[in-house]
Formats: sequence, C-alpha cells, structure tokens
Amino acid sequence: MGSTKAGWDVAVIGLGAMGSAALCHLARRGCRVIGLERFEPGHERGSSHGDSRAIRLGYSEHPSYVPLVRSAFAGWRELERLTGETILTTTGILEAGKPGSPMVRGSRDACEMHGLDHEMLDAAEIMRRFPAFDLPADYSGVWQPEGGFLRADLANALHLRLAREAGATIRSRSRVTAIEPGANGVRVVLDGETIDAGSVVVACGPWIADLVPALRPHVTLTRQVLCWYEPQRPDLFGLGALPVFMIDGADDLVYGFPDFSGAGLKCGSHFGSGTLSHGDDARQDAGPVDEARTRQFLQRYLPAGAGVLKAMKTCLYTMTPDEDFVIDLLPGDRRVVIASPCSGHGFKFASVIGEVLADLATEGGTRHDISRFRFGRFPAP
Ligand SMILES: Cc1cc2nc3c(=O)[nH]c(=O)nc-3n(C[C@H](O)[C@H](O)[C@H](O)COP(=O)(O)OP(=O)(O)OC[C@H]3O[C@@H](n4cnc5c(N)ncnc54)[C@H](O)[C@@H]3O)c2cc1C
Repeated sequence: MGSTKAGWDVAVIGLGAMGSAALCHLARRGCRVIGLERFEPGHERGSSHGDSRAIRLGYSEHPSYVPLVRSAFAGWRELERLTGETILTTTGILEAGKPGSPMVRGSRDACEMHGLDHEMLDAAEIMRRFPAFDLPADYSGVWQPEGGFLRADLANALHLRLAREAGATIRSRSRVTAIEPGANGVRVVLDGETIDAGSVVVACGPWIADLVPALRPHVTLTRQVLCWYEPQRPDLFGLGALPVFMIDGADDLVYGFPDFSGAGLKCGSHFGSGTLSHGDDARQDAGPVDEARTRQFLQRYLPAGAGVLKAMKTCLYTMTPDEDFVIDLLPGDRRVVIASPCSGHGFKFASVIGEVLADLATEGGTRHDISRFRFGRFPAP
C-alpha cells in the first residue's frame, strides 16, 4: 500500500449529479472535503450526462415526494442566484395517457393533495393547446404550469465550480476500491493510496453495489436510450409551443423535451431496453432497433416530430424494486452515507439531496423527510 493522506472531514465518492451537489454543499459549509471520480466529471458512462432533465412538482410516483421537490426547486433557484446562470426553464409539463393511466392518476392525486397549480385536460384540449400531439380521443392529461427542465450538464458543472471555489479538492481518474474503518472515521482505498476522512458519501450511481455490496440484490441497472429528431414542423416543437411531456401510451411510456437549443426534439422511453449486470458493461451503442422504437411512438402520438434523426445516446437507470431512492446511513457504520437517488427520476432532486447528504455526513441526520428512502426497507434476499 502506498501513502496515506489524512485530514479530510468528508470524502465524496462519485461526482455525478448527487456527488457534485454534495461536494458543493459540504465545501460551502466550510468542511475540508475531497471529491473522487473514477472517470472525468461530465463523462457519458453513468446517469447524469446530457443537456436536460425534467422537473415537476405534482409527483406521480408518490405525493410524499412533493415537499422534497419543492425544496429542490428552491435549491436550483439558489444555484442560479449564486452563479448567474439559467438552469431551470419553466415550460409547463404535460403528463398524458390512456384511460386508467397510473401516471396520470398519481400526478393528479399529488397535485390535489398538495394544492398544486394544475388542470385536467382531455385529448381535444391538449391538442388544441399543443398541436404537436395527436392523441386518441379517450386519453387525458395533467397539466402543471410550474414544470419544466433543468440544464443537466451545466448544473453538475456549476455545483463542482462552486465546490472548488469554496475550497473542495476534486480528483478525476481516482477509482475507490474499498471503504474500511479508519483511525478516526473511514479509510478510503484507491489504487496504491488510502485517504482518511471523518465520513464518506458514496454516490456511485450504477456502481454503488461495488462499494456497498449489501445493495447488490436490490438494484437493477437498465439501459436507456435517448433520441434527438429534427421535427418536420419545427414551429410545433420549440420553446413556447411544446412543453416537457410524458405520454403513457398503449405499450410504452415516452417522455420528451422541446427543442430549446437547436439540438432537436429529445425523447426516450422510460421503460428502457434491457438490463446490465454491471455499470462497466454500459456502452454508447444505441442503434437502429432503439431508434425504431422511439420513432414508432412519435409517429403515433407526435407525428410531425418523427423527422430526421440527429443524435442518439445511452444512459443508465439504477432501479430499486419499489422505484424509490436509497438515502441513508449505512446500517452498522453511521460514518458511511449511501446515496442512490435514481430509479430514473432522481436528477431534479440533486440540489436538495446535496444538502441532505451534507447533513447526513456532518450531523448524522437531516431536517428533510427522507424516511421513504431507508436502506433497511428491503426484505433480506
Ligand atoms: C436517460 C435518463 C433520463 C433521465 N431523466 C430524468 C428526468 O427527466 N428527471 C429526473 O429527475 N431524473 C432523470 N433521470 C435520473 C437522473 O439522471 C439520475 O437519478 C441521476 O443522474 C443519478 O445521479 P448519480 O450521481 O446518483 O449517478 P451518476 O451520474 O451515475 O454518478 C455516479 C458517479 O460515480 C462515479 N463512480 C462510480 N464508482 C466509483 C468509484 N468506485 N470511485 C470513484 N467514482 C466512482 C461514476 O463514474 C459516476 O460519475 C434520468 C436518467 C437517465 C439515465
């Protein structure tokens, strides 16, 4: 074993959306903090890369997410204030679907329970407001005017910039191979080196089970593909004409974003295409079969969007069986904070989850309600 570097209050492992945000919050509180990333921040092998992620208040997954997402909205606005950049663009969000769609029902319930601004729209009204859609007559949707999208790559970079400015050390190409008990906290093991810290935040996304093996039976990695199209009617697909949308269709659930930058109409299936046994198996390998699936969906529900394909990318979801996050102290070692907020819907929370992770790492608790995300909720395998 090589040298041992002492003296960090907190080590953050993994600098995707969650680790970057945690690093930022910790550094701005005055902690001596180091961020360790096995690739380069902004790389395309994990879950956080890309130009956009959706954000919405009325949360179809469960109404109990609403207070947290409110805090996340405030967190993004604070990041904008601190940096002078635009991260959150409000387009409104439309969640529409077939009769009985759990997504539409869940979103409506969350809006009603929390008194959120929303409207229930039938298919005709949706198509009147947003002529890009061609929906079956029995479809309906929830319109939330406060929804929109986050500039994902920019947000991650800004969290890291603020962290660095507040004194954080950031190390790329630094893969952590183990976390062990240390003299006054934890010992983080890298190739040929160890780092001692008071506590550690494990925010390794699809690789989290490498460092927290007890999670392995409870996470599934799914391959997700995104496509960007040049719409045949650009006037229907730009900012102001098309909101962020999710369509729970006859046999797929597809989400999409207006063309806000000239990159094209972005869309992808939430259901993914296959599972991977390890994060290292992910490749940028999207191909014609993936594209045909998205194109077919567009042809059915947004026909003028199915123009020339401009780009494709793959990305990973880290899914839990109940699709809720795992954010907790490691049972048996309260100096280890586990952060696996994905299941395909975590990005919007990164601004507040960074705060939560900083709370857990420094105080062992947080004022935010994260009881839904307990590590111990899974039955023993
Ligand atoms: C296609 C797609 C669309 C999505 N859409 C939305 C959306 O619209 N709205 C929304 O809210 N959410 C969305 N999500 C989910 C959201 O993007 C994720 O929840 C979030 O990005 C997860 O971030 P993370 O930091 O946990 O993981 P990651 O971004 O994967 O970061 C983990 C990091 O840890 C590093 N790492 C791993 N192991 C080690 C190690 N041993 N040592 C050092 N570093 C290590 C990795 O290199 C990586 O950089 C989407 C996800 C995908 C894939």
